[in-house]
Amino acid sequence: MKITIVTIGDELLIGQVIDTNSAWIGSQSNKRGFEVQRILSVSDEYSEIQSALRIALEESEIIILTGGLGPTKDDISKKAIAEFLGDRLEHSERSWTHIQSMFRKFGRKPLDMHREQALMPTKAVLLENPMGTAMGMWMEQGTKVIVSLPGVPYEMKNIMSEEVFPRLVDRYPGLHSVEHRTLHTVGVGEGTLAELLEEYETRLPSNIKLAFLPNLGKVRLRLSQSGGQLENVPAIDELKEGMKKILGTRVFGEGDTSLEKEIGALLMAKKLQMGTAESCSGGFISHRITAVPGSSAYFQGSVVSYSNAIKQSVLQVGEKTLQKHGAVSEEVVREMVTGGIKVLNCDLVIAISGVAGPGGGSKEKPVGTVWIAVGNKDKTETCLLNVSKDRLKNIEYSSTRALGLLRSFVLENY
Ligand code: ATP
Ligand code: MG
Repeated sequence: MKITIVTIGDELLIGQVIDTNSAWIGSQSNKRGFEVQRILSVSDEYSEIQSALRIALEESEIIILTGGLGPTKDDISKKAIAEFLGDRLEHSERSWTHIQSMFRKFGRKPLDMHREQALMPTKAVLLENPMGTAMGMWMEQGTKVIVSLPGVPYEMKNIMSEEVFPRLVDRYPGLHSVEHRTLHTVGVGEGTLAELLEEYETRLPSNIKLAFLPNLGKVRLRLSQSGGQLENVPAIDELKEGMKKILGTRVFGEGDTSLEKEIGALLMAKKLQMGTAESCSGGFISHRITAVPGSSAYFQGSVVSYSNAIKQSVLQVGEKTLQKHGAVSEEVVREMVTGGIKVLNCDLVIAISGVAGPGGGSKEKPVGTVWIAVGNKDKTETCLLNVSKDRLKNIEYSSTRALGLLRSFVLENY
């Protein structure tokens, strides 16, 4: 069953707001077995909204529009849709009651323009919006369904989940949802993974696809099965297990998880305490670790030793080491680990020092040179990275690699 998504708003076309509504509706529709035929983004113009409707009605059974339901002058979706469907707007007492009750909650009085917001197409079934003033609309034209929703993402999501999808699933029973299984890897390139999985991929059933989704040091591997389970072929879960076997410890988790969460679970299982000694990442690794609820069980703290003076005074990095090798060096990250373990009183420390850019590079140590180290009181492992992205991406990438190094250090040594 095909869906066309139409997102409305000048702000989407000039790049002021990124169209996350389409992405969300797309993924949620896909999960339920609907096929997104096309995504259109148009300006707040009658003619544009109507020509999008024309295209959408030609190719899809279901059209979902978001945006332009507000009380302001630029919000004209309702009028454009009603006119297109040969309908008109009429005062809706239900919508007006809803608007008034929303205002009562805010402790304010509705303005005249809000009375106008209670005008609704006469043929529309109104959809509850407990989070905002603009109710959603469900309209039918022949066999086609046209849904118009507010643009505010959390309002749209709530109405889609509570009102629209239940109606769509009832209307089109028996759709095979697309099944996905995702494995997460860190520290291995897409090419290496593709090589390891070359033969495996050729043996996949015809309705199961493998996608490689790389993102700054991590790669997600997603198996997608469409059209239900075929006869005489392995089930998607079995195939996922097969892929896990091939990749071994390169896989850090599956499904809805994160590297930080998995590291947390690993440290808790091994009863280990960690800390970080961070230079170029400025505390970003510690932020990522502490974004996981319950991280106090395994995270002691961090020293953000951005200056050499702090590296020396707090982490006890030797003055000579700094002079001889420079702050961005294997020797220095090793000493940061040793000092970090003492001052943070923990089992394991991640240390990182690098040139995040855009300035500060030299011939020997160009921008993107990052040393990372992970160690305990007996042993330290190091890794040199040459990253070539912008400053923030360099920091994010090297932090991910550092977390990956911590994970493999724990797996190997505990
Ligand atoms: P309101 O009742 O708040 O005026 P509305 O239906 O008129 O809602 P818009 O004015 O089009 O919605 O958008 C409200 C806000 O929602 C925008 O400022 C924008 O930040 C966000 N928004 C709108 N469309 C999208 C979209 N496609 N993706 C992500 N955000 C969006
Ligand atoms: Mg708008």
